[in-house]
Amino acid sequence: MAARAAFSDVQLTFLGTASAQPSSTRNHSSLALRLGPDVWLFDCGEATQHQLQKSIVKMGKIEKIFITHTHGDHIFGLVPLLAGILNGAGGTTEEEEDPRAHIDVHNPVLEIYGPLGTRAYVRAGLKYTHTLLGSPYVVHELRLPWDPKHGDNLPLHRAESPSGRNISQVDSVWPNIYQDKIVSVSAAPILHSVPCLGYVVHEAPIPGKIDPAKYIPELKRTNTPISVMSRLQQGESLELSDGTVLHGPPRRPGRKVVILGDTYDPSALVPLARDADLLVHEATNAHLPGIDEATKDDDTFESIEARTKARGHSTPQMAGIFAKRIGAKQLILNHFSARYPGNDDVDDKAKTVMDAIGALAAKEYGAQVTCARDFMSVDILKQ
Ligand SMILES: [Zn+2]
Ligand SMILES: [Zn+2]
Repeated sequence: MAARAAFSDVQLTFLGTASAQPSSTRNHSSLALRLGPDVWLFDCGEATQHQLQKSIVKMGKIEKIFITHTHGDHIFGLVPLLAGILNGAGGTTEEEEDPRAHIDVHNPVLEIYGPLGTRAYVRAGLKYTHTLLGSPYVVHELRLPWDPKHGDNLPLHRAESPSGRNISQVDSVWPNIYQDKIVSVSAAPILHSVPCLGYVVHEAPIPGKIDPAKYIPELKRTNTPISVMSRLQQGESLELSDGTVLHGPPRRPGRKVVILGDTYDPSALVPLARDADLLVHEATNAHLPGIDEATKDDDTFESIEARTKARGHSTPQMAGIFAKRIGAKQLILNHFSARYPGNDDVDDKAKTVMDAIGALAAKEYGAQVTCARDFMSVDILKQ
């Protein structure tokens, strides 16, 4: 894996925004975070590979996949995607040995993170479909204190690196499960009907904004090459020939993106998620009297919320309240019921519904809210 360079662009692309049932306008959950040229995938529902091929995201650039939980609508697409990106198609007859049976599993090209069961699911899926891979992968599991020490009894797949970690919690969260010089990932358990994770991707502090007018007269006066501006830009201090010391601007906080799995209460993520530049929160069900024709006479905001919570999910209002609680600068809703079509960019009726869902969240959040649709991309800008 090449050393990561500082990235100028951070962009999120929604590949699937459906909850339990996919529809003709929404695929199962997946979203791609593009960090410069690298792609990190969050969840990989059924047919994510197809969605990638129809999107602007380059499948060959995927280097990490983070699974929020092992419900099928978030993981059914993982094994076929691995086969797709790691040369898993085809095979040979018995007489001719397949070179993929003997690959070097060290230095895995693809890292997968997820809760207990992620590793076993991938092993079983590859094993029983007789899938060989041309490049190695590794699975790191984020373990809860009560998870069994040995996740499963299946042997390593031939393409699986034995370096997969079982990551224990520290103070009830998983800090820095991945970290390099310019970005880190942490996670916390969020409440759903099964063990589920929320992820926080945090860019390291970035160089401050430089005001050339503050420095150039000093540099000219002391005949200092203007090229030192690049060092000042990085926050360095410089002593000029006459003893004057110039200090570069202090570094600014990097961008923070919070991506939740399904949840009715993500409170455990609050310490990690504060001041996020972007929060992606599910909003599976909403009460839309007069707008959603399927609304029953005895439905109320309270009864819909109670039913949504009982199934482990959130309403738009719950998402808005959480976004406000963490001080998120932007809120995008996803994981919608099949009742809410995702073609609101071309269909007025769908737009009315999605605008109403966004408005319910916005009322609690106090600012505008975006409802995701498949293939929507959002730039996450530096502050
Ligand atoms: Zn789901
Ligand atoms: Zn779920």
